[in-house]
Amino acid sequence: MHKLDLIEDQFDRQKKITWWEQDSLSKSKVLIIGAGALGNEIVKNLALVGVGEITIVDNDKVDITNISRCIFFDETDIGKPKSELLSKKIQTIRNIKSNYFIAKVQELGVGIFEQFDIVIGALDNREARSWVNEFSRMFGIPWVDGAIEGLNGLVRSFGKEGVCYECTLSDEDLKLLSVRKSCALLSEEDITLGKVPTTATSASIISGFQTQESLIFLSRKQVEHMPLIGKQMTFFGETMSFLTTNLKEKSDCYVDHSNIEFQKIITSFDLNIENILEDNQLEGPGKFYREMVSNISCADCGTTKEINKYISSVKQYEALCSSCGLEMQIETDKRIDSFYKKSLNEISFPDNELIILNNEYILISKDKV
Ligand SMILES: [Zn+2]
Ligand SMILES: [Zn+2]
Repeated sequence: MHKLDLIEDQFDRQKKITWWEQDSLSKSKVLIIGAGALGNEIVKNLALVGVGEITIVDNDKVDITNISRCIFFDETDIGKPKSELLSKKIQTIRNIKSNYFIAKVQELGVGIFEQFDIVIGALDNREARSWVNEFSRMFGIPWVDGAIEGLNGLVRSFGKEGVCYECTLSDEDLKLLSVRKSCALLSEEDITLGKVPTTATSASIISGFQTQESLIFLSRKQVEHMPLIGKQMTFFGETMSFLTTNLKEKSDCYVDHSNIEFQKIITSFDLNIENILEDNQLEGPGKFYREMVSNISCADCGTTKEINKYISSVKQYEALCSSCGLEMQIETDKRIDSFYKKSLNEISFPDNELIILNNEYILISKDKV
């Protein structure tokens, strides 16, 4: 026996599980969307087992109702951003690398998912789930969804192929979702978790299952080992019973179930777009993956405002007319050549966003140095 095997470390008990790969866990990068009740518990669990790096996304701030379900938040945190608090606090109690974004996931580049081994949804609304679903699949990253209501909850996992979250929605759900999505700018009035009855225990139970499902994957990095891939486990808290069902892939699902091929470029966002393309021997014709908002105008009083910003960075209040307060109409443009002389920073282009050049996907990431 090797001498090192005789020395116990903090992870000794879990390493006794035959398939457990501590090295693999300590090199894993996990993206957690949502820093509420589920997010707090998931971060705690991942840190305890020694996952290497946790990135947390949430645009919300702590309010008084969060405190009964979130171990990392107390009265002195009210009004502070949840993702930042959670990320900083976990680093003070465990040796773990953690990053955060104070943003809605839809405000980040769609290619953010590509850098992670797995995505865990700790979400409370369908719009965000639908977003995570579409783009984690696009980049072939598995994601584990969890939801809680009252004493009940559910966990389900979606892999690199086959059934996706959108396949599980009824026609009525999809209709509601498409109405909300048709609003070009992000809606500000998402339903918040605080308005649904929940308890610390249901958050703890469901997040425990989500974390365990993720660890099974992270240890061996094989989607086939995830017990809930393409399945949903529903927990009924009042009777302490479970029901696991297979989720069915929809042949007419509007989400493309395949993964994309893409080229990744890392560049300074201070350079203008023309130079970035030249430096990387790239040529048009090309378009942005999402829209650039060029102008907004008021149909009622004729006020026009030049915006020239990428749609993910335009806030809903910016589209209200300063003269009469009505919602203005936005004018968008996807053609890159209209903005050749501008830098990516000037147009608020998000880090890790796609563009399409000659029908090929190019992922543009910010040079951090
Ligand atoms: Zn689908
Ligand atoms: Zn007006």
